[in-house]
Amino acid sequence: MQPFTYLTPGSAEEAVAAYAEAGEGAVFVAGGTNLYDLMKLGIARPSHLIDVTGIEGLDTISTEGEELRFGANAKMSAVAAHDHVAGQYPVLSESLWKAAAPQLRNMATVGANLLQRTRCLYFRNGAGSVSTVGVYPCNKRAPGSGCAAIGGLDRGQAVLGTSEACTAVSPGDWPVALTALDASVEVLGRDGARRIPITEFYRLPGSTPDVEFALAPGEIVTAVTVPRTEAGRRSTYHKLRDRASYAFALASAAVALEMEGETVRRARIALGGVATVPWRASGVEAALAGRRLSRDLALEAARGAFAEARPGRQNGFKIDLGAQTLADALMIAMDRA
Ligand SMILES: Cc1cc2nc3c(=O)[nH]c(=O)nc-3n(C[C@H](O)[C@H](O)[C@H](O)COP(=O)(O)OP(=O)(O)OC[C@H]3O[C@@H](n4cnc5c(N)ncnc54)[C@H](O)[C@@H]3O)c2cc1C
Repeated sequence: MQPFTYLTPGSAEEAVAAYAEAGEGAVFVAGGTNLYDLMKLGIARPSHLIDVTGIEGLDTISTEGEELRFGANAKMSAVAAHDHVAGQYPVLSESLWKAAAPQLRNMATVGANLLQRTRCLYFRNGAGSVSTVGVYPCNKRAPGSGCAAIGGLDRGQAVLGTSEACTAVSPGDWPVALTALDASVEVLGRDGARRIPITEFYRLPGSTPDVEFALAPGEIVTAVTVPRTEAGRRSTYHKLRDRASYAFALASAAVALEMEGETVRRARIALGGVATVPWRASGVEAALAGRRLSRDLALEAARGAFAEARPGRQNGFKIDLGAQTLADALMIAMDRA
């Protein structure tokens, strides 16, 4: 591991200034549950760590007003257990409860969760001790080196949003729930503050899979906001994985419904575990609007989300699993009063 300096700014403005001064090689760190892992693997090699956990007020959770607002440093466990969130927006709460493990959720923050890196085997295991090029090519880790997952072990890889350069799955659960609810990410940089709709926050891999987020260098995430919606109460995050806990999604679905009796007025749907970014399923939303919801309709519409899927050698099962997961999520959400 290479030596690094460790800075502890007291405000978001100080953190942005510290980054600007430190220059290339600086990274922010919050709970460290992803970054320290990557440093130990030799994938992240920062020269300056800017620890944002001491920034006052950055962990505030507010559920008053037009939108819910979660400070970037709020712990995953605190947001999951928040009474208003758990009661009125189960999709948000469940996406956090079903992620990682209790110890991790007590350390990890909802702002940095958005920025965690992929769990693709070749991204994580390929780095060598002296360079990020490593033993396996990976365009995300070492741009231009190739993608060992294409034609390799691809059981966990994405079937939606892939490119010739990358098929790595977007790993987070919380971003999928946020995508269904049209959340925004508040950031602060040298040019001031701005809000990025979550649907624009993640970049499809295309030919530059190393560019993953719509953040400029040195911009700090300060909060996540979620517009109020009555669909929040009729919502769920349904996650299928290899183990009942402590595992990333093979397929997941975030669903929030506005219903009139048994008829869907409006559905909000996003998929996880199957795509390179949190995947908004707008086609399925349109297919369900104005129709009486049944398991048959749910499955038929859910299959439409995978019409453009491009499976590899071992991950074709995700097409049926993803559709069944979404259909089940729709029925769970409908049953919630
Ligand atoms: C064994 C294991 C199992 C897991 N299972 C799941 C799972 O099932 N589902 C799931 O969703 N997640 C899972 N995770 C991932 C975990 O949720 C993330 O590691 C965690 O959310 C990251 O939060 P953190 O505060 O620890 O981030 P850090 O590790 O501190 O940072 C993560 C990234 O965010 C950047 N960063 C941090 N704060 C800021 C900021 N304010 N502004 C800009 N950049 C910032 C860092 O530079 C880094 O790139 C798992 C992790 C482990 C280790």
